Amino acid sequence: MTTETREFQAEVKKLLDIVIHSLYTEKDIFLRELISNAADALEKFRHQQLLEDEVFDSQAALEINISVDDKEHTLTITDSGIGMTRDELEHNLGTIAHSGSKTFLTELSEGAKKDVSLIGQFGVGFYAAFMVAKSVRVLSRSYHPDSEGYEWASDGTGSYTLAPSSGLHRGTKIIIELKDDAHEYADDGAIKRIIKQYSNFVPFPIKVTGEEVNTVQAVWTRSKGDIKDEEYTEFYKFIANAFDEPMSHLHFSADAPLAIKALLFVPETNIETMGFGRMEPGVSLYCQKVLIEQHSKEILPEWLRFVKGVIDCEDLPLNISRQALQDSALVAKIKKIITTRFLKNLGDLAKNEPETYEKVWKEFGIFLKEGATSDFTHRDELSKLLRFESSASEPGQLISLADYIERMKEGQDEIYYINGPSREAIATGPYIETFKRRNLEVFYTMEPIDDFVLTHIGEFDGKKLVSADRADLKLPDLRDKEEKDSEDTKHLDKPVADSLTKWMKEVLGEKVKDVLISNRLEESPAIVVNPSGMFTSSMERVMRATSQDHMITGKNLEINTGHQLIMGLADMRLEDEDFAKNLAEQIFDNAMIQAGLMIEPRSMVERSYEIMKRALKK
Ligand code: ADP
Ligand code: MG
Repeated sequence: MTTETREFQAEVKKLLDIVIHSLYTEKDIFLRELISNAADALEKFRHQQLLEDEVFDSQAALEINISVDDKEHTLTITDSGIGMTRDELEHNLGTIAHSGSKTFLTELSEGAKKDVSLIGQFGVGFYAAFMVAKSVRVLSRSYHPDSEGYEWASDGTGSYTLAPSSGLHRGTKIIIELKDDAHEYADDGAIKRIIKQYSNFVPFPIKVTGEEVNTVQAVWTRSKGDIKDEEYTEFYKFIANAFDEPMSHLHFSADAPLAIKALLFVPETNIETMGFGRMEPGVSLYCQKVLIEQHSKEILPEWLRFVKGVIDCEDLPLNISRQALQDSALVAKIKKIITTRFLKNLGDLAKNEPETYEKVWKEFGIFLKEGATSDFTHRDELSKLLRFESSASEPGQLISLADYIERMKEGQDEIYYINGPSREAIATGPYIETFKRRNLEVFYTMEPIDDFVLTHIGEFDGKKLVSADRADLKLPDLRDKEEKDSEDTKHLDKPVADSLTKWMKEVLGEKVKDVLISNRLEESPAIVVNPSGMFTSSMERVMRATSQDHMITGKNLEINTGHQLIMGLADMRLEDEDFAKNLAEQIFDNAMIQAGLMIEPRSMVERSYEIMKRALKK
């Protein structure tokens, strides 16, 4: 018989090096990972059996057997699952395919604590065995009727061997020779304890020296009233490979139009923000407890990829192929039903437990915003779930569109919002002035995506959503008499003002579409507004950053003809036109900065030095 020796892929070597030398981590989890692989293999076999005419060892009971030898210090985990061919052994246990795992690797090698416990979430769980193993032997025989057995073996230090192995049953047997400091795992008591902790819900019997340890059924198939909160939490931890507590769960079942049972969880943390890259979907599709597709991409919209859980639908044909899943009208129907239910559930949460919803929003709101910009089907439900700060909220307090509408003034029929880098910057900026005076509430949107979301939604409850930096803003005239009077402060005469705007347009040239007299300014000399109404300044910033400049149209500069600086400019224009040009350019640049838009810094800095020099001369 021939034994071949193969090198591990470089990433695997690196990962193994960390796993073998990590002292601080919870070692117990290696067993959870191996059992979860065994359970996956059994699920896959159960599924495959329905598709094939003939399978190898068809009589073998679907179960996981674990035995220990405390003399030899070995631990053996056997499953009668799908097994692996020679090629599969080489590919699955010698390389890392999934890109998220590479991020995990970088995090691991940089992190001081070397927390290996997340290993299962990144698709490299098998290698956790090397935390406790001196050597690992994997004996496997695939379910194919004409398959042959192979043995994979390694001590984790750079290479592994592959050799044919005769007399194997279907499935996989993993024999671990325990390290000297891990002999405690050659003990049934310890093994049973770990199984109860991590692997209680595995839907196949796990037997330790013949005795079945896990006796709990699939939680989602039980009725709500019988399930304790702790059971939900435990189940969540199991299916999500997670250690946090879920923030909320939805357990629901329906008989019509489809027989569906679903148990969905919102986790506690958003790992995408922790630098792990894009999350994979976390909901698996079952038919009567038989796995159809793990972490299905089809069953929920992509923007719900943060949700973990199980969807079980009796009406799905068990032997549906991956391709058929994608094209299935039934799957599309399930997706719509579940998504609607899930969003409704979040709405109820917002009503009944506002503090919990706020936490969900802070952590996962970004996904709901992604949905609002990309998913027409659920746009209305999603818009009800949006939350922002506003001019009428306390700092940090979040307001819904419905809250806003309830407080709208008589005569107001639009919803206003403005983007800025912070609450402070918005509240003291020029855009808010006219709203303050009119006592109109304005949403403060502080994320770059927000304006895309609100533009995309367009309206809520029949009220248009309008960005406060639009040029054609038509505000309701809600001022009382006193305020109107105070407005009669001195302004430039109309002919002077008209001539000034014309001159400024000439000076600024292509940089602006037009220069106009503003009726929205109070404290600020000038403001930049968007005549197209298509993009807000915040959206423009994003488009520039992503090189979509061609989409951008020119802006209007509006000037406050009651402002000292503008009035002074009108005089200066006659006295020293060159210097007045400098001032006009500077006023425009300043307004651009307040709109959060880029300007050309070099000429601006030079110009501002010129202005300072002149100020010092006086
Ligand atoms: P993951 O389970 O997330 O895919 P692992 O590192 O745990 O990552 O396992 C890698 C792959 O090895 C699995 O996807 C599976 O194809 C294969 N594998 C591991 N254990 C078994 C087993 N007991 N039976 C069959 N295949 C297995
Ligand atoms: Mg695994």
